[in-house]
Amino acid sequence: MKNKKVFILGMARSGFEAAKLLAKDNEVLITDMKDQDEKQVAILNELNVKVVITKDPIDLLDDSYDLLVKNPGIRKDHPTLIKAREYHIPIINELELAYHYLPKNVHVIGVTGSNGKTTTTTLIYEFLHASGKPTFLGGNIGIPFSQFVLDVKEGDYVVLEVSDHQLCDVKDFKTNISILTNIYPVHLDFHDSFDQYKEMKKRIFAHHTKEDIAIINKDNIEAFNLTKDILSTKKYFSRLGKSDCYLENEMIYYQNEKIIDIKDILLKGYHNYENIMAAILAVKSYGVSNEAIKKVLTTFKGVEHRIEFVKNVKGVAYYNDSKATNCESTKIALKSFQNPTLLILGGLDRGHSFEDLTEAMSNVKYVACYGETKNRIKEYCESINISCDIFADLKEATLACYQKAQANDVVLLSPACASWDQYDSFETRGTEFKKIVNSLEE
Ligand code: ADP
Repeated sequence: MKNKKVFILGMARSGFEAAKLLAKDNEVLITDMKDQDEKQVAILNELNVKVVITKDPIDLLDDSYDLLVKNPGIRKDHPTLIKAREYHIPIINELELAYHYLPKNVHVIGVTGSNGKTTTTTLIYEFLHASGKPTFLGGNIGIPFSQFVLDVKEGDYVVLEVSDHQLCDVKDFKTNISILTNIYPVHLDFHDSFDQYKEMKKRIFAHHTKEDIAIINKDNIEAFNLTKDILSTKKYFSRLGKSDCYLENEMIYYQNEKIIDIKDILLKGYHNYENIMAAILAVKSYGVSNEAIKKVLTTFKGVEHRIEFVKNVKGVAYYNDSKATNCESTKIALKSFQNPTLLILGGLDRGHSFEDLTEAMSNVKYVACYGETKNRIKEYCESINISCDIFADLKEATLACYQKAQANDVVLLSPACASWDQYDSFETRGTEFKKIVNSLEE
């Protein structure tokens, strides 16, 4: 891309990286509603990028622009985008932009789906990395593609997490292997309908021919039906019956060959075994050995804050699932363990009920609660006859679990609430939990 006049709508990490990528050879303006980090603004100014903070970006757009790069989170009916369409200015996003800078003959693997994207993307990266392949990890995972695309060389591997928001504004973006982990009716506030959401997800297979591979969850009816007519070579994974990769008698098989016993896998939960199977299918296309896969699966602690294994203390396994900010996610975490569980719940009070947890509480022997929701959690636990105590903060709650736990138990932080009553993010909460656990006397 050279000598173009480019308008970037929305800064964040991806807008910043897109501006840097474009700045060398193009005239670039970037705009955002919110004040931005001074250091980032200085870097862009140094590169001759014009940074404008305004609530009315529409006033900055005229028909002299050749291209608009939008942040994936901005809705398509944003007035500035409507105006750009009237001027026939092409609209793309940062993922599509970076794709145009990619050298030829790079292996591109894209992962999308309603759930499991980050875990699957990370596993693929870990498997490829463990087998010595030059691999880059990025996309929606928090590392914009534009940040590293210029470092990618012919023959390298690029593993990208791709969100439905990102798929709305891609045009030429094409993978060699695309994975659809599952489809559930989510993000419907962003898309006009569930059908439209599904159509966006399907774009991960765009431009595929028989030479390209689609990896699909056979057990997820929406994913299965949606991909019936795609042109890719399809490979399926299933935890219900034989497939290209499948789960049988608590073991994972690839093409009828046993890969690993699930008891040897550090990641827990049947949803994670699905993510693992998807990742195995992806890397088997590149000849990754069973040894490399096993090495990762027996040591990989999980993506940070998502049922992440922290440590064993006195025979008790501590897991950090701080990302679980609602009952649905906590239910998934609870179902991942067969062991007696001491659960830490609590945080921001959105007035939500905890009743939804009940079907998953059968292994829970104790609840330690804290935060704004503590009194309601205590009432809920009393209603289902589970012992529960109230604490001032996460540290006290964790120490109480430490005192009460016996060998073979699990202590799980999966709070079913947002963190904002006491923390600035779920990451800070999870990091504090890990610090507390790491300081427990062994
Ligand atoms: P995403 O990147 O799609 O948000 P993650 O891998 O970060 O997914 O996982 C986030 C949460 O989604 C997990 O903690 C778990 O609750 C749930 N999850 C992960 N994988 C799956 C799956 N394959 N099926 C259903 N739920 C899942």
